[in-house]
This record gives sequence, C-alpha cells and structure tokens, in this order.
Amino acid sequence: MKTSLSILISKTVYIVTQLFQLGAGGTWPGEIALTLNPNILQDLVKHIKKGIIVVVGTNGKTTTSLMIVKILEQHGYSVVHNSSGANLLNGVVSACIQNANWFGKLTADWGVFEVDENSLPIVISQLSSRLSETHGGIYHKPKSGVKDSSTAPPAGGFARNDKALILVLLNLFRDQLDRYGEVDVIAEKWGKALQEIRNQKSEISDSEILYVLNADDPLIAHLGIKIKNVIPTEVEESNTAAHRRGNEVDPSTALGMTETITYFGIEDKKQFLKTHEHATDSTFCLNCGHHLDYSGIYFSHLGIWKCNHCGAKRPKPQVTRVKIRLPGLYNEYNALAALSVAKSLDLDDKITQIALQNFQPAFGRQEEFTVGLKKIKLFLSKNPTGFNASLRTVLELKPKVLLLMLNDRIPDGRDVSWIWDVDFETIPNNITVIVSGDRVHDMALRIKYSQKTQNTELNDQLQIEPNPAQALETGLKNIRTGETLYVLPTYSAMLEVRKILGGKKIL
Ligand SMILES: [Zn+2]
Repeated sequence: MKTSLSILISKTVYIVTQLFQLGAGGTWPGEIALTLNPNILQDLVKHIKKGIIVVVGTNGKTTTSLMIVKILEQHGYSVVHNSSGANLLNGVVSACIQNANWFGKLTADWGVFEVDENSLPIVISQLSSRLSETHGGIYHKPKSGVKDSSTAPPAGGFARNDKALILVLLNLFRDQLDRYGEVDVIAEKWGKALQEIRNQKSEISDSEILYVLNADDPLIAHLGIKIKNVIPTEVEESNTAAHRRGNEVDPSTALGMTETITYFGIEDKKQFLKTHEHATDSTFCLNCGHHLDYSGIYFSHLGIWKCNHCGAKRPKPQVTRVKIRLPGLYNEYNALAALSVAKSLDLDDKITQIALQNFQPAFGRQEEFTVGLKKIKLFLSKNPTGFNASLRTVLELKPKVLLLMLNDRIPDGRDVSWIWDVDFETIPNNITVIVSGDRVHDMALRIKYSQKTQNTELNDQLQIEPNPAQALETGLKNIRTGETLYVLPTYSAMLEVRKILGGKKIL
C-alpha cells in the first residue's frame, strides 16, 4: 500500500515537472518516493522480467549502458534505463517510476542502470534483496520441461535464467577531488558491497550474478580475483554458455546460484602509451601494497599489470576485440564491456554487432552539431582521465581549434585543481586553444603553463573568452568551411553548449 501510494504521488510529481518544464524529472519523483518508502526500488524492480544490469565506473558508464540498451533492444527486449544520466539512487528510482504504470508495475524485460560510484553499495543491496524476495514465488516460472513461450526471449539465448543481476565494473579513476575519496577507498567499499550480496547467497535461489570486469584496471580486476578466491566452485566462462543451455550441470548450481566473471581488456601493443600520464591513479597492488609493474599502459593506470611481490596479475580477458565506429580507446573499452554483457547472456553475436555498429553516442559524448557549413563536436571531459582520453582522441583528428570549457558548479565539482593532472602539454603549438567557462582563468593559467614548457612565443595561440556563446562564435570564426570545432566541456558547460546550439543561432 505504502509503495502504491508513493508511486502515485511520485508519478504525479513527474507529470507536473514535465508539464511545467521544471527540468528536474530525473531526480524529484525518485527523491519523493524514497522519502515515503526508502525500500521502494526493491518493489519497483520486482516485475522486471529478465534481470537487471548495473553499470558503474568513473568514466564511460553513460555510453556503456546505452550500448547495452541498444544491444538488448536490437534483440527485441524492452528495457528500462535511467537515460537522463541521473545516476544516484533517486535517479534510478525516478527512471523506474517514469516507466511504471499507476499501480507501480514495470513491464520491461530488462533494467539497465548506470550508477554513481558512491551509490553502488546502496543500489546493489536493494537490487539483491529483490532477487532473494522473488524466491518466494512471486514469479510464476514454468515447470522444468514445460515450454512457456511467454518467457522465451525474442532472439538469442538466455532462456534458462529469467532473472539475473549483472554488475559491469568499468574503471576507477580519480574524479573531481571534492566529491570522492581516494579511488582505493571506493574500491574497498565496492568490495564490501559485493561481499554482502554474496552473503545473501543462501537466500537467493535460481538467480545469477554475472560480473563483467575490466581486466586492465587493477582496482577492478582485484575485485574479481577476490570473488574467485571466495567461490570454491567458480564456473569458468567457457562452459557457462553450455551450462546455461542445459548441456552440463555445474556443481555451483547446488548452491542455487552461479557467479561468473567475464573479463574484458585490450590486447594491442600498438596502443601502449610512451610515457605515464599525470593522472595515473592506482599503481599499487591492492593485495600487498607494492608497486605494480606494467609491461604496457593504455591510459592512466589501465594496462598490462602485474605485481612482482605477491604474484597478482592481470587476469586473461575473454573479450578483447570489438568493432565500433566511434573513435577513441575509451570507446573501445565501453564497447568491450557491452559486448561482454551480450556474451555472458549468450545473446546472438550478429544482432549484437548490428547494434554496436549503429550506435550513436549519448548527448555530449562526441555529439555533433552543424552550424552553417561548419561543425561542432562535443567531447564531455569531466575529470583528469576523461580529459586525457578526450584530448588523445581529438588530437588524432587533427583539430585547428580547441575550445576548453571549465565550470565549477555542483555537477562539475567545486574544486578545479584536477586540471593540473590533465596532460595539456600534448597539445601541439599550432593548435589555437580557446578557454571559457566559470573558471576560465584557472584554465588559462593551466594552458599557459603547458605551453611554456614547449614554446614561449606561441602563447598568443591562447584565447580567453569567459562567455560560452562568445567563445563558440570565436571558435567557429577560427575554422574554415567544412572544418570542425572541437569542444571539451565539463558537465554543466556541456549542458550550456547544447542549450546555446539548440536555442540560439550562431553566425
Ligand atoms: Zn602484490
């Protein structure tokens, strides 16, 4: 009763915010529903048929979760997704409320939720209690041997398990300094949260937890190594599919649940960095505290790592290749993660490929705008690693002009000192750099320093334009017809640029 009332109220709030364009539909309904019923998420997701996929990581969670949504939709599944990017508990609840009917029933096959690093423990504890609750028989599962077409998937496999929890852990980088603690503190919190779900194992029956982990990130891989050490009958990925098709009975099913890990990673020596980036976060072994040894680094602390002291090393990834149209190594990681989800669900490879080939990025992530005969391309850059990754991709595209926009509003983080961890030194001298945003002068100073190390005479390649609309105009004036202006904004600056480009005519 409590749940239906809170859903009724929250849905009304959602409709009102939409009607009056209050622009807070991403979090308000969830916030209100949670105040009325702190455990509402458990009730809401009960009716999701197949399972829930949670995507977490400092960078790439929006793109990866959208890729997963597209793959599932391409297979004919219906999906609930917090597409607004609101990724705290209230955002996840809001997305469910928007998609639920007035009685609080969600009829989707899958829930795909991107979740903020710090919210992961609370979100998964709610979701896993949902898994144990469903054991009571809320689902009417067909008896074994009885074919029930209503539960058969439209395409691909995954027929055996009709509810699963899939945790996709992408990476852990240092984000805005004032919002989060050190990365290893977050890794520890995640480890505890994962341990807690495993403690509920005896209560969870006929459900699966599938882990999709980045082998190249030692912080993430370490969680997998720990999980493996706890489970005595860990199922190897290679026989999971066979097991799911019923060809083989794995001993772990005796526990009523299987836990499987799919690792993804890049195996391409050509992509190794020549030097360490400023923003390298984790180079210490989580097992013994000694320095990790890398035979190659892709970016930040992602690479081929091992600990010479205790012997911990990068697990061999099962998913290492993916075809996508988007440029950039970080998109390769996102697509590898999405592909790993598809593989661990035994989905049809060809259909998955179609979805990935047709993938269009989420707003602000390599989003393109046409202004007259010129183009503007946005690369959301909200923390040191993200900025370095964007810079690397943009520089490969041989830009004439870069517009860097730094804001320090709440979604950006108030402390902007992280810009000193971005490798602006990699920007060649012949590129004009325009800086803008609330903290334009901090950015200008950072760029001045980066240029000083190379060539003092070229400091006039830097243009300071505090007003974002003016900065865009200056940027466009500096490029020729057919060329592209590359804009690297922080989160709120990205929203501003989209507003300017959507609402106002430039040039
Ligand atoms: Zn070690």
